[in-house]
Amino acid sequence: MEITFYGATESVTGSKFLLHTDYGTKILIDCGLFQGETGSAFKNDKLPFDCSTIDYVFLTHAHIDHSGLLPMLVKYGFKGKVYCTSSTLDLLEILLEDSANIQLQDLRYVNRTRAQKGLEPIEPIYDINDVKNLLDKIEIVDIDSTLNINQKIFVNFFPNGHILGSVAIHFTFLKKDKSQVSVLFTGDVGRPKDTIFPPPVLPLGADYVICESTYGNRLHSPQVDLEVVLRGIIEDTCLYKKGKIIIPAFSVDRTQEIIYAIDRMDTHGTLPPIKVYVDSPLSLKATRIMDKHRNEFNKEILDYICRDGAPFEFKNLIYISDVEESKALNNNSEPCVIISASGMADAGRVKHHIKNNLNSDRNLILLVGYATPHSLAWKLRSGVNPLRIFGEYYEVNARVQSLDFFSAHADYLELIEYLKSQDPKLNKSIFLVHGSDGAKESFALKLNAEGFNNVIIPEFSESFEL
Ligand SMILES: [Zn+2]
Repeated sequence: MEITFYGATESVTGSKFLLHTDYGTKILIDCGLFQGETGSAFKNDKLPFDCSTIDYVFLTHAHIDHSGLLPMLVKYGFKGKVYCTSSTLDLLEILLEDSANIQLQDLRYVNRTRAQKGLEPIEPIYDINDVKNLLDKIEIVDIDSTLNINQKIFVNFFPNGHILGSVAIHFTFLKKDKSQVSVLFTGDVGRPKDTIFPPPVLPLGADYVICESTYGNRLHSPQVDLEVVLRGIIEDTCLYKKGKIIIPAFSVDRTQEIIYAIDRMDTHGTLPPIKVYVDSPLSLKATRIMDKHRNEFNKEILDYICRDGAPFEFKNLIYISDVEESKALNNNSEPCVIISASGMADAGRVKHHIKNNLNSDRNLILLVGYATPHSLAWKLRSGVNPLRIFGEYYEVNARVQSLDFFSAHADYLELIEYLKSQDPKLNKSIFLVHGSDGAKESFALKLNAEGFNNVIIPEFSESFEL
């Protein structure tokens, strides 16, 4: 049998791996969008295989760089089944719908310019109907379960603590000569100590491992108590400076981590008497989904729920969906916290909030996530001043602060710990994906030192016999 790498090779995004078994079954693991790098649009324009020949898709988690091209797969003829966990399905529904809408909005602007030049309009790579067609093909698997496909393919799922619903996927294939071969896809691996999720479950040993290496050359700074850090920041800006705090945050995970920390402040009686707004329809939906799947939470937050009731709900927390209510926040001069999407501040309502609050040094823009170069969050972090937003320049008088300790990815020591269930003597190869700036190369050397002698860094569209 054979594996081909169609993404997450030269970059950290676009995850797509194709398995072709001895019996002719084709299985795609993830079908992600390339994001935030030169040539992304070109790479997303076409899938590099015949979609109609794929039998099954297995999805590790809902992040768009792992799932974002699934509707396109269906649009171009995929007729099989897509397997994922039920919380991943819930997140997919809102994230892919959002992705289809963002494409439409972006193309409206692009096509207006093209029309002025007499050029043909560009079509979106998929639309909301393709998303619906995809969702019809999904089969739910339990987060900690085994699946038997046609007596020749056995699949095990292992929660890996990265985001809600995320799993590593372990396949055992029966070969024509009656021998077996096992292949493990780690997906994105979470951290051993997360505020919401339990540590990753160590997966079964495998002949071949396809391992992420996003932090293959980096260690995280020591974990801090977010509640304590945020308390200091909120007291300083809202209580003493009487300003507003604007937090651009990814709708899934980061937003809930922040709400949960402020919820704890409220429970402990340390939250100043200010309003906290979550101004994003997507973040509201993601928070509801997260709350619906409490069965995936770790013991600490479940204990907290037993005492406090709800981790994403307190008296002064207000979720805003309505556009007019969002606009009304501009005229509100009271000190407050506004958590809004998108995480990199390139789209969504947070862009308006940043624009409207840049003028005063009483206000703080608090950056809590990764930002690709040239995104608005990246420019703020880099001190670009004046800042161009919606085609106009604005003086940056507001303070900008970055909290760099957030991460949903294991660092290299944590990844090595995660691979402890793999026996270097039995392992045939580890393929490294999802690493940039030397992360894969550096991690390969570390794995060699652990006794894994055949570590491979595959190139785009490269195939290997398993
Ligand atoms: Zn991810």
